[in-house]
Order: sequence, then structure tokens, then C-alpha cells
Amino acid sequence: MKAPTFVRSNPCDNRNHSRPNAPVRNCPECGGVVNREIAVKKCNEVEHGALRRRQNRYCIYFGDQLIVVR
Ligand SMILES: [Zn+2]
Ligand SMILES: [Zn+2]
Repeated sequence: MKAPTFVRSNPCDNRNHSRPNAPVRNCPECGGVVNREIAVKKCNEVEHGALRRRQNRYCIYFGDQLIVVR
């Protein structure tokens, strides 16, 4: 039997989207929720700074945008 074909509706190809149990709530690349089981965490600027250094475009705790493109 062949593997089922998943409908591709993801806005980006970050692998967290295809994980059944993603370790983060929000995708760092598009900000979309990848794991609703994880409760929303109150984030702060210290955490945002650490996420920015890891090239994350969106907050993985809350989904807010970290790098504003002007
Ligand atoms: Zn994404
Ligand atoms: Zn945040």
C-alpha cells in the first residue's frame, strides 16, 4: 500500500508543519500554528532576541512577527 498523499495547504515548507507532535506552537518561518496542544506562552523581548539570533522570523510561542520587513 502506498503512503497517503497529504493535501498541501501549508503556507511554507518548514518541517514542523508535517510533524504530528511539533515541539513548538508556532512555525518560526510563517507564524502559523503547528501544534495546538501547546498552550500559548507569554513571551518577552529576551526570548524574542534569542529567537532572532536563530534566524526565526516569527515567535514560536505566540506567533508574533520578529523581523519586520520594511
Ligand atoms: Zn510555516
Ligand atoms: Zn513572541
